[in-house]
Amino acid sequence: MKIYFKIILISFAMLFSASLKAQHKIGLVIHGGAGNISRENLGPEAEKAYRHKLQEALQAGWNILENGGSSIDAVTEAIQILEESPLFNAGRGAVLTHDGKNELDASVMNGRTGQAGAVAGVSTIKSPILAAKAVMENSPHVMLSGRGVEQFAKEQGLEIVDSSYFFDKRRLEQLKKFRKTEEDRKKEEGSLQYIPGNPLLLNPDQKFGTVGAVALDKDGNLAAGTSTGGMLNKQFGRIGDSPVIGAGTYANNATCAVSATGHGEFFIRNVVAYDISALMEYRNLSVKEASYEVIMTKLQKKGGEGGVIAMDRNGNIAMPFNTTGMFRGFIQKNNEPQVSVFP
Ligand code: ASP
Repeated sequence: MKIYFKIILISFAMLFSASLKAQHKIGLVIHGGAGNISRENLGPEAEKAYRHKLQEALQAGWNILENGGSSIDAVTEAIQILEESPLFNAGRGAVLTHDGKNELDASVMNGRTGQAGAVAGVSTIKSPILAAKAVMENSPHVMLSGRGVEQFAKEQGLEIVDSSYFFDKRRLEQLKKFRKTEEDRKKEEGSLQYIPGNPLLLNPDQKFGTVGAVALDKDGNLAAGTSTGGMLNKQFGRIGDSPVIGAGTYANNATCAVSATGHGEFFIRNVVAYDISALMEYRNLSVKEASYEVIMTKLQKKGGEGGVIAMDRNGNIAMPFNTTGMFRGFIQKNNEPQVSVFP
């Protein structure tokens, strides 16, 4: 009798632990860029369109997580939807370089394996985030750039498009406006000095529209990804923080997953995404404390504008930004997508 009782008890314990495992919290956070965004300069129609697209991306990534998919797949799915929308500075509708071209950067990182993939300066790969994922999964490298990555993408069977696919007229207007201001200042001041952090590199409405996502899947694995057109009027093959692992993107199951948006030069110099993880690892800070310390204190002191989304392995999230707004949203168990733009 006693032995039967023991068997029943053990079976119950096994069932209980299995159900606990299956119930691992899942979560998804996304952003569509930080910047000088106010209700007045955005307008109600545009705000509605942004909110709608962010919700769509959240829902698509969430469906993957809910059906047992991986955090990597959820992150890349959500980002792909934002890349396809001309609203954001990623994929279609990305900002233009000084020469009027689109040069796109993206990266992704798997918090379980510590593997990462990135592409920089691409102009014919339809989805830079999928190319970054292919680099991570199917190449011995972490970061590929320029023509080489386009060759690699073809071999991987990724969709290749004419570079005009990314072009958006509004971006041309934006570039013209920017170049005009630049010319006017050159006339006034003689020459323009590009010093680190010079706001001249910022676009006229100072809106970074990079997109990113972080996710936690049912197996407790974190992932992060970021995709961007970089910064308006960038020159000489400039690469920002978005494809730089540790600066614009980072994921580690032991700490957190991070995706950044903002003035890339500052994010690179301050290794922002990794710094948040390091503060959690070495100083035992929570994801909220670590990300607020980096964005609101360390980065702000140096004049670096932008924000991050971050999530820890328990699904706790943080979305600090030191600009007036950041397009962002999250979705967690039993919740509808929550989207916001302003503080
Ligand atoms: N961080 C990006 C870059 O510097 C810009 C952005 O967030 O929109 O390339």
